[in-house]
Amino acid sequence: MALPRGYISHSQIRAYKECPRKYRLAYVENIQPPGNDKVFLGEIFHYAIEHYFLQRIGGVLPTDEELEDYFRSRFDTDASNRDISWRSPRDETRQRGLAFLRHFLRSVAPYTRPLMVEKELGAELPGSGVLLKGVIDLVEEDFSITDFKTTTGRWSESRARNSPQMIIYKYLFDRSFGPLPANLKYEVFYGRNAGNVRHQTLRVIPDAGATEALLVMIEDVVQRIGAGVFPASETSLCRHCEFRAACRDMGPA
Ligand code: SF4
Repeated sequence: MALPRGYISHSQIRAYKECPRKYRLAYVENIQPPGNDKVFLGEIFHYAIEHYFLQRIGGVLPTDEELEDYFRSRFDTDASNRDISWRSPRDETRQRGLAFLRHFLRSVAPYTRPLMVEKELGAELPGSGVLLKGVIDLVEEDFSITDFKTTTGRWSESRARNSPQMIIYKYLFDRSFGPLPANLKYEVFYGRNAGNVRHQTLRVIPDAGATEALLVMIEDVVQRIGAGVFPASETSLCRHCEFRAACRDMGPA
């Protein structure tokens, strides 16, 4: 069996590692469960900062009001056109997103030197020739690579240190542009409500050999997907799985 999308990516690898059946439901069966407010908020926040960085790259500095209007308009339009399961009320989610955006404009935006935004990169894996793809949120003029996250709680430093996502981005960046010294970091905006939003910058410093180990793991995942190996992995995470209903319909593991 070929890869369902014709390539492998960090989100596919993460889905397979969490639960191979979840991968099957999402990428082989193409089941699309309703989105949830957390993922939706992250998407709209990313659209807004992409808009901001594209303007900056084009030599224009957008005003805070303009960017907030962009966020509100995109949030309202997409929320009306999509099937979203609101675990937090829609207006509260919108206010929280605006608070994230204001925090970004105050604490992060003035210190960035954007060079590329939402940059899609790809490279064939050595050996198998399978295409590995990734989309980097932001590359700055000093080639630092940043991924932005919106979430409810603070991240631990260990969560960022050997992040497979960032190791993949750096690998793709080096394969595309040659090995360049590049800082890797997450900008994490977190808070449960609009009145309590904070931000942390987390450096990603992979251990020696982390890239090689990750490539071995990716090859293993690719082979299992190719062989149609999709066992259900039942853990406490099943409670939060968006494919729970479809999984139940498929029967026991
Ligand atoms: S409910 Fe659990 S076993 Fe089923 S797909 Fe989701 S994570 Fe896997």
